[in-house]
Amino acid sequence: MNKTIVYSDNIELDEAYINIAKDERIFKGSLKDSAPIIIRKCAEVLNSNRVSIWLLSKDRTELVCFSHYSYAEDKFEEISVTLTQHDLPEYFNALNNSRVIDAQYPEVDLRTKELTDSYLIPLKIKSLLNATIRNNGNLQGVFCCEIQGEPRSWTSDEKIFITSIADLVSQRLLLGKLKKSQAYLLSLYEVSPLGIMFLDGRDNVFIDGNPAMFKMFGVKKEEILGKSPLDFSPECQPCGELSSSIVFKHVAACIKGDTPTFEWVHKRLDGSEFDAEISLGALETSSSSNLLFAVVSDISRRKEAERDLEYRASRDSLTGLLNRESLYEYLDQLISYDQRVRYDQREERNSKIAILLLDLNHFKDINDTFGHIAGDEALKSIAKMLKQYIDSINGSLFRLGGDEFIVVAEKEKCSKPLSKLPELIKNILNETIYVNGLDVKIGASIGASLYPNNGVDSHELLRCADVAMYFAKTNVSQVYWYEVKDDINSQQRLVLKTEFDKAIENEQLRLHFQPKIDIQTQEIVGFEALLRWQHPELGFMLPEHFLPSIEMTEMIHHLTDWVLKNAIDSLIHLGENGYSLPIAINVSARNILNMNFIDGVQERLLKSKIEPSLLEIEITETALITNLQQASQSLSKLDAFGISIALDDFGTGYSSLCNITNLSLKTIKIDPSFIQGMNKSKSDFVVVSSIINLARSLSLNVVAEGVEDQQTFDALKKLHCNQMQGFFIAEAMEMTGLKSWLKKNELIKTIHS
Ligand code: C2E
Ligand code: CA
Ligand code: CA
Repeated sequence: MNKTIVYSDNIELDEAYINIAKDERIFKGSLKDSAPIIIRKCAEVLNSNRVSIWLLSKDRTELVCFSHYSYAEDKFEEISVTLTQHDLPEYFNALNNSRVIDAQYPEVDLRTKELTDSYLIPLKIKSLLNATIRNNGNLQGVFCCEIQGEPRSWTSDEKIFITSIADLVSQRLLLGKLKKSQAYLLSLYEVSPLGIMFLDGRDNVFIDGNPAMFKMFGVKKEEILGKSPLDFSPECQPCGELSSSIVFKHVAACIKGDTPTFEWVHKRLDGSEFDAEISLGALETSSSSNLLFAVVSDISRRKEAERDLEYRASRDSLTGLLNRESLYEYLDQLISYDQRVRYDQREERNSKIAILLLDLNHFKDINDTFGHIAGDEALKSIAKMLKQYIDSINGSLFRLGGDEFIVVAEKEKCSKPLSKLPELIKNILNETIYVNGLDVKIGASIGASLYPNNGVDSHELLRCADVAMYFAKTNVSQVYWYEVKDDINSQQRLVLKTEFDKAIENEQLRLHFQPKIDIQTQEIVGFEALLRWQHPELGFMLPEHFLPSIEMTEMIHHLTDWVLKNAIDSLIHLGENGYSLPIAINVSARNILNMNFIDGVQERLLKSKIEPSLLEIEITETALITNLQQASQSLSKLDAFGISIALDDFGTGYSSLCNITNLSLKTIKIDPSFIQGMNKSKSDFVVVSSIINLARSLSLNVVAEGVEDQQTFDALKKLHCNQMQGFFIAEAMEMTGLKSWLKKNELIKTIHS
C-alpha cells in the first residue's frame, strides 16, 4: 500500500465525483448494492485506509456501520462496532451541528476525542474525515474516511468532495424510500378494490384508471378513456339536480384545493346504475392543465341496505301500506310544493287536497269476537280492497295504525270530485268481507278535511279530519267534512275522554231512573237506568256529551259493567223498599258482540240472587247490523237466561221488522222523533201506527218514548200502544227522588208481570 500522502488536486476530485454520480449502477438496485462502489472509489481517490458508511438507528441514538471498506486488504468487512450517543455525546453533537468533521489529530480534537479508547486506538486510526448524510437537514448517517499510519490534514477540496459524496448517499437513500413507496402505491393501484381514475379537469375526460375502475364500470380501458364522467352518469342525481351541474361544482372546488367526497349514481354502458362514493382531488392545477383524480367505491350494497331500512321504516308491517311517518312526509311535501308554486305565481291557485280519515266502524268487535289473528287477516283484506280502489282513482292510502286509514287525494290528479270521495269510499267499505268463515259487514266512518281551507300543515289537517271523524261517528250518514265551529266542542270532548278514566274510581257517575207506564192501565211497569256524570268542574252532564267518544274506546266495557253492577244494586234496594219492578239498562253495540259481557251479566245476576227477569237490556240497531249472526247468538243466550231484550230507537236505523223476527226480542221502543211528530206530521203518525200494528202482530211489546203531553198519550192509547216513557209522566230521577216520586204516585199502580 502506498503510504505517501497524495494531495489530490481539484480536477481529479471533480472527475472522480462525476464518475461516481454518473455511474448507472449507483441508482440501480438498493443502497446495499451501490455502497461498495461508492466507498471503494472514495478510498482510492482520497487514498484513505478505511472508508465506511454509518447510518443512524431508528431511535436516533446509535450509529450502525452499514458498509465498510479496507483499502489495504481491498476487502469489505463486517464491523460490529456501534457508536452510541450515550457514550459519545460530544461527537454526536458535532455531527448534528456540522456538515464535516476534519480531524487531523482526532485523539485531541474536542469533537472526536471521546472515540479514542473504544475506536481510534484499537483500529489504529490517526486522522479522520467525516461528512454527515442528511435528509431535510436532519442527520441520517455519516460518510467516514480514516487514515492509519501518519496523521494527515484535509484540503478544502477534499472536504467539498466528501460532502458531495455524502449528499449522493442521502439522495440514494431517499431514492430507495421513494422506490419502495412507489412500488407500494403501484401495487395498491393495481389491486385496490377502489376504482382510481385520473381526469383531465379542463375537458373533463378520463385519461387513465386502474383495473378496479374498469371492472366497476363494466368496460374495457379503451371504452372509457377520452369519455366524460357524465357519459357514465344519469342525467339527474337522486337529489333531482342535473349531474352536469353537480360535477361542475365539485371540479371547481377541487381546483380551489378542496377534496370533496360525495355520493353519486353512475350508469354503465348497458344502462344499469350503481351507487358510488367519490372522493375528488387535484394533482396539478395550472392555467394549461388540471389533472384530477377520483377514488370511487361501489356502495350499492350499503345503499340497498339503507333503502331496505327506509322502505321498512316507511311501511306498516301488517298491510304493507305506507305508515303514519310517510303520511306526514308526503303531505308536507305536497303542501310545500303547492305553497312554492302559489308564491311564485303570486295568485290564488285552485289546487285542493282532501285528507280523509277512515275509521272502521266495528273493527274492534271483530277482534273481540274472533281474536286478533282473524282481526289481522280482516285488516289485510280491507287494506287490499281499499288500496285497489284508491290506486284506481289516483289517490294515496296510508295506515295510521289500528283500524284507521288515511286517504290523501289531490283535486288535480284524482279522477273523482273530492266532494264525492267520502261517500264513494264508504260504499267500498260497506262490502262484506269474509272472516273466519263468516261474511262480515265492516263499514266505516269518514272524517274529512281540506287543504288549504282547513289548514296549511299536515298536523293541523289531520287534527281537523280527526275532529270531523267524531261527527261522522255520530252522524247517520257516517261521513263528515270538518267545519271550524266543530272545534269548540271537540276540545272539551278530548279533555272529557281523558278525564272519564277517573270518573268511575272517583265516584262521579250516577244512574237516574225514568219510569215506564202501561198506557192502558196506567200502572208502573219498570224503569230505564240512564247514565249521568257529575263532573267536578263542568257539573251535571248528559250522556250525549261524553258517551259517543267513550263508545269508541275500550272504556265502554268498563263503563257498562259499572252500570250493570249499579242497576243490580238498585234492584236490590228497590226490592227492599217494596218495589219489585224491572230496570232496563242500555248497552252499546260493542258490549253485545263481546262474549265476556254476556258471561259477566249472568255472573253478576247469579251472585246477587236477583231474578233475571228483573233486568232488561236495551240495544240499538248498530249492534245488530255490524254482525247479525254474532248479535243474534248473544241475544239468544241472554234470553235463555231469562233476561228480556228491547230494541231501542226503533225507526231511526235500517232494520225492518221482518229481519228482526228471528231475534230473541221482547220489546221495541219507538224513537221519540216519531212520537213527538205524530200529532203534527201525517207521515210520522203512519210510521208510529204501522210499527205498533206490526209489532203487535209479532207479539212484541211496544214502548213509545218521549211522550211529553196528554194529546200524544191519548193518541197512543187509541193505537193500542202497550207502554210509554216520557216527561209527561216523569223525567229520569236519582234513587231518592224516584222513591219519593213512587210514594207520591201511589195512585199509579205498580205491576210486575
Ligand atoms: P235512550 O236509551 O233513547 O234514552 C232515552 C233518552 O230520552 C234519555 O236521554 C231520556 O232522558 C230522554 N227522554 C225521556 N223522556 C223524554 C221526553 O219526554 N222528552 C225528551 N225530549 N227526552 C226524553 P238521556 O238520558 O240523555 O240519554 C241519551 C242516550 O244515552 C240514551 O238514549 C242512551 O242511548 C244513552 N245512554 C244513557 N245511559 C246509558 C248507559 O248507561 N249506557 C249506555 N250504553 N248508553 C246510555
Ligand atoms: Ca234506552
Ligand atoms: Ca231510545
